[in-house]
Amino acid sequence: MSHGHRRPIVAGNWKMNGTQEQAVTITRDLLKGFHATPQIEVVLFPPFTVLQKVGELLRASSISLGAQNIHWESKGAFTGEISAAMLKELGCKVAIVGHSERRQFFGETDATVRKRLKATLEAGLNGILCVGETLQQRQQGKTWEIIETQLQAALEGIEPLTAKAQLIVAYEPVWAIGTGQNATSVQAQEVHEKIRRWLAGRFGQAAADAIRIQYGGSVKAENAAELMAQPDVDGALVGGASLEPKGFLSIIESTVQTKEAGCSTHSS
Ligand code: PEP
Repeated sequence: MSHGHRRPIVAGNWKMNGTQEQAVTITRDLLKGFHATPQIEVVLFPPFTVLQKVGELLRASSISLGAQNIHWESKGAFTGEISAAMLKELGCKVAIVGHSERRQFFGETDATVRKRLKATLEAGLNGILCVGETLQQRQQGKTWEIIETQLQAALEGIEPLTAKAQLIVAYEPVWAIGTGQNATSVQAQEVHEKIRRWLAGRFGQAAADAIRIQYGGSVKAENAAELMAQPDVDGALVGGASLEPKGFLSIIESTVQTKEAGCSTHSS
């Protein structure tokens, strides 16, 4: 399937890492080495406490700011939660929903993921919907069944035009997150292709062709090019390696180069 028309997106999820001082150092180092190019979208997801600071540093660059989580209500008695309006005020353009760490450790369910995604899209933010199977589910041959259930639940009620314009899907096999064991490019492409086919059935082919599907799970400088060479892999959601500016820059660079090479091969 052609991928020349999808702008790859590389995201850096810092998770619960980064004091003010560390955040400033990482962001400054990243900006020093970053060469803006229209061929790629780069988004950082620092913790809530440094969104303002990192946002100020990114303001003059083409790197955008995103939130690791978002609440579905606009305000009120929801201790510990952050609303879309609060995130927009800080300059966030994107929110991650349904990250496996939230599903595993914080009681996130398909139902709450759906509410968070709906609020994200309604607020005009782009949403990265994370889906992925555990090792046990993969070994039981349930990978697709799990992902389809997650997609179906999270995307219930979403209009095709909204999905086309604002949705990004991240395939993140749980067994590959933070383990150093990435999915092979063949394993990733197999699932990405199925996700795109499912999106086509749900939202139509034009939307499915436009929606970016990122791969996440132990992406690093050494494996980025091979993963990005797959036609349905449209970028990366990077955790650990995004805290190292040099490695993260090299993932960005590999993505640009691999996708450019892929485009010229496909169009010739
Ligand atoms: C993530 O946090 O989404 C992730 C993929 O983490 P890591 O790159 O560290 O595996």
